[in-house]
Amino acid sequence: MIRVAVSGAAGRMGQETCAAVEGAQDMDLVARIDPSLGVELEPALAEHTPDVLVDFSVPDSAVANIRAAVTAGVHVVVGTTGFDLDAIGGLSGANVFIAPNFAVGAVLMMLFAAEAAKHMRAAEIIELHHDRKLDAPSGTAALTARRMHEAAPDRPAPPIHSVRLPGLVAHQEVILGDVGQTLTIRHDSLDRSSFMPGVLLAIRRVGTLPEPVVVGLERLF
Ligand code: NAD
Repeated sequence: MIRVAVSGAAGRMGQETCAAVEGAQDMDLVARIDPSLGVELEPALAEHTPDVLVDFSVPDSAVANIRAAVTAGVHVVVGTTGFDLDAIGGLSGANVFIAPNFAVGAVLMMLFAAEAAKHMRAAEIIELHHDRKLDAPSGTAALTARRMHEAAPDRPAPPIHSVRLPGLVAHQEVILGDVGQTLTIRHDSLDRSSFMPGVLLAIRRVGTLPEPVVVGLERLF
């Protein structure tokens, strides 16, 4: 059994993750960590000795949470977005897997957009999220722009437009333009359950990553 702790456990993604872990036959949910539940990270790691910490907290706390877990020898699966990835370099003691988007369709959207960027002259990205999302642009949009620029380095990274409205969950359109035509690649997460197969896969694989820090769900395909 994989012993799993969740930080940000009282939040929207944290609650969904706790339910998914409880429903997985090869996992035990050993701790729900969240200041709003009165449970702090470091004492909970020491008391419950998880194998894996899943972090869906807030941008300001993600780096400290990752550092504390790795120092305690606990592998970390990170879904929190909006923090500087460079801030977690040089850690050792456990692995870190980071995915700005755990939905398989969103990962495919990024791969298709990178491929399309090689063939079409210009592109822009529109990302649309619920109005309580703290960061903009989204981590998914930033990673899509990076992958498109890597695929077509002679062109600038596509500009990103962010929309925040009640009623939305997580959506993104990549619109590519060329002479007399456009191509639109769109992904919609209609429900937070869309992220859970990717989260469970990452929990199962984080202990055996080829490098101590791996970014992107496509690295687990
Ligand atoms: P939320 O605001 O509903 O939940 C965040 C929770 O973190 C809150 O309960 C808060 O009390 C808790 N928290 C605050 N400080 C903390 C700390 N120091 N340690 C532990 N917990 C702490 O937010 P959400 O909608 O659940 O999103 C959480 C994060 O996940 C955001 O960064 C969001 O962008 C990201 N997200 C990622 C994906 C993905 O696929 N990677 C999908 C959706 C959301």
